[in-house]
This record gives sequence, structure tokens and C-alpha cells, in this order.
Amino acid sequence: MTESLNSSTVLQTSLRNFEQTAQRLNLDEAVYQKILGPKEKIEGRFCPVMENHKVTPITSFIVRHSDALGPAKGGIRMSADVTMGDVAGLAMEMTWKTALIDVPFGGGKAGIRCNPALLNPQDKEIIIRAFTRLMRRHIGPEIYVPAPDMGTDQNDMAHISDCISYSDGIAITKGCFVTGKSVIIGGITGRREATGKGVVYTILASCEKLGLDITKMRVAVQGFGNVGSVAALEIARCGAKVIAVADSTGGVCRSEGLDVEALAQHEKNNGGVKSFAGGQEFAGETIFESDCDILIPAATQSQITTKNAGKIKARIIAEGANTPTTPEADEILNQRGIFVIPDILCNAGGVFVSYLEYTQETQREQWTLGLVEERLAKRMAQQFDRVYDYAGQEKLTMRQGAMNLAVQKVADALVARGFLP
Ligand code: NAD
Repeated sequence: MTESLNSSTVLQTSLRNFEQTAQRLNLDEAVYQKILGPKEKIEGRFCPVMENHKVTPITSFIVRHSDALGPAKGGIRMSADVTMGDVAGLAMEMTWKTALIDVPFGGGKAGIRCNPALLNPQDKEIIIRAFTRLMRRHIGPEIYVPAPDMGTDQNDMAHISDCISYSDGIAITKGCFVTGKSVIIGGITGRREATGKGVVYTILASCEKLGLDITKMRVAVQGFGNVGSVAALEIARCGAKVIAVADSTGGVCRSEGLDVEALAQHEKNNGGVKSFAGGQEFAGETIFESDCDILIPAATQSQITTKNAGKIKARIIAEGANTPTTPEADEILNQRGIFVIPDILCNAGGVFVSYLEYTQETQREQWTLGLVEERLAKRMAQQFDRVYDYAGQEKLTMRQGAMNLAVQKVADALVARGFLP
């Protein structure tokens, strides 16, 4: 890894978690080197002509960290400051996540460096299609299968699918080149909500183990996009009170509980939670100090740091976001006895339902919402219990336990495949 790659806090966190796991598992040097990866890094620059006829140079990345267990799987992040290091770290996380949730995929990730909040829908489509044409040979059902991540959604995935169908002269149903796309063109029902719902399933399982009553829980959520808003709506439906929500526009709180549905409508109309009439405004960055029982970081990386880890009042932290906690902050949380549901388990519902979408499309099946939700709930509960029991037996934290199980599985696959190319 080069120096500039290592300046990414995501990559630093992913590497540190992996190094510690490799030591705990006493990984063989050859296996360690093979797992460390990444297998392939691609950087591409494209210059789309935007609606105003101006050319806008954009840098983009794809990283395939591992294909030990199957084609690389992972979302496309669109943000103003995403780096190759971030994408490499997130791709590594995906390797552990797909292994842990037990789907036949490896780990990958993509990044497009531009701010989606500043784009009109036409310009966003131009950028997504230009990225797809540039990266065409690196995307495919047996290579790298993208999905939504921060800054991208089902419409963007639909445009990728359409662009490939048009360029290759193949049916829109031939695939699966991308998951998380609109249902009408082959996406799976329930995928948009899967990550947020999965987060809540792991919280319910945690409450059960810790003897906590969900209807008495007060919840704070950072990030009110795909993951955060669905998690907030779902946990409110379970009877918990969502007392604080923050996004990049600001924060709103109400000690009696926010009307989350009204907040979601406000966010849809205004592009953020700021100025919601049903609560008091507060500085979003202080969300981690909220007087809550459950904290859901569902925004971006490295939000829980040594600066705020000591001030967290929650008993449970459910990592909806990827790498929201730095390793140093994680140690503080462990010392304070806070129960952390690690990202590779907590937010794995999205990739699990992406796997169902992949099988639906490649096998020309038709899944119902009921069946998708049943399988999601079952898989999240099964894998939560597996990590909880293993961590208990080995006297490890949930993150350490999840990492041990995931890395060992990838190591076993590499050994089974053999070391000659
Ligand atoms: P999104 O773009 O739909 O929403 C992101 C939200 O975070 C927005 O509300 C935004 O305002 C807020 N945000 C961004 N930066 C912030 C900051 N510094 N402070 C406060 N709020 C901030 O993204 P998403 O798809 O919901 O993804 C959120 C997180 O969940 C990311 O870490 C992503 O990698 C992870 N994740 C997403 C999926 C998925 O299926 N979409 C799956 C697994 C993990």
C-alpha cells in the first residue's frame, strides 16, 4: 500500500482490524499475504459533458479486494472526498461481510469523486453512465457486481444496468451486473429497506441477550439516508423512541420521541432533517452525546473517535455505517462495557438481499416481499447468534468474534483453492 492510500482512516481501520485478527488466528504467512490484497485496483478519470455543456473531469475507483469466495461485491460511493484508500478499505470490509453473512461473494467497492448533493438528476445520470462506460470491463456478474452506497441509489443502479444493456446489446434481464436496482427492471423487492431493517434485527437480538425491553429504549441516529431513515422508521415501529436524528444538514431532537414518518417526509421534501417543525434543532455533531440507550451511526466513516467515545451514554451501538468507529475509540467503548454490533454483521442485510437479487436474476426466479423479509430476518438472527455464541466462548468482543469467523472462512477458501494460479 502506498503512503497516500494509508492516509485514509477507513483503510487504517480496516487494516488494523485485519492485522489484529490475523494475529489472533495465527494465520500462516502465505495465507496472510493472499488475504491482505487487494487483488486489483483500478483508477479511472472521465470527462462527461454536463447539461450546461461544460466538461467536468471526475476521478473514479474500483477495488476488488478478494474473490476467494466468489465475484467481488460492494457498493458505489459517490462523495466529494472519496479516495482510493477509502475504496480499498471498504472493499476489504466487504470481503469480511460477505464471508460472515455467508453468501458466495468476495469483496469489492467503487468510488466516484463528486458531490451528489450539488447535481441535478440529469447530470447525475450523465456521470453514472460515463463511469459505467469507462469501467465496463471491470463490472460483471462474475467480476464485480456493484450496489448502492452513500450518495447512490436504485435509480443510479438502473442507469448502470440500462447502459450495459444498451452498450452490449443484451436484454435488461441478462445479468446480474448490478444489484439494488429499481424493481421494475429486475431489482428485488425489499432491497432498499434491507440494510436498515437488518440493523434493527441485530438490535432486537442484542436487546434480547442483554435483557432490555425495546419499547423502553431511546434511540439516536446519525445519518438519515437509505440506512438511517429505514432503521429509524423500523425501530420506531418496534416501539422504541427515536429521540435524536442528525444528518449533514443538522440535528433534530425530541425527548418524548420524534414522529419519524413525518421527519422522513420532511427530509424528502427539503433534502435534510434541518428545520423539522416536530423537534428542537441541535448541532448534529453532538449526536453521540445524546441521552439514549441505543446509538445508530448510519452516515459515514470515522465518526466515533477518541474525542467522543468517552461521552457516549448508549448501552448499544449498532454500526449501520461502514467503519464508523476508529480502533482507538473501539478500545474505549470496550473498556466502558458498551455493546457494539460491528458493521460487518450489523449492516450485512443489504448484501444478503443483494445476493437474493443476484439469484433471482441469474436463475430467472421471482421473489415475493414476504419471502425476502423472512429470509433476511432469519439470516440476520442466525449470524448474530453465531457471532454472539462464538465471541462468548472465546472471550472476545462482538467485533473480534465476527472478524475471526469471517477471516477464517476466507483463509479456508484460499487453502481449499490451492496456491498455484
Ligand atoms: P445515503 O447517501 O443514503 O445517506 C447518508 C446520510 O448520512 C445522509 O443523511 C447524509 O446527510 C448523512 N451524512 C453524511 N455525512 C455526514 C456527516 N459527516 N455527519 C452527519 N451526517 C452525515 O447513504 P446510505 O446508503 O444510507 O449509507 C450510509 C452508511 O451505511 C455508509 O457508511 C454506507 O457505506 C453504509 N452502508 C450502506 C448500505 C446500503 O445498502 N445503502 C449497506 C451497508 C452499509
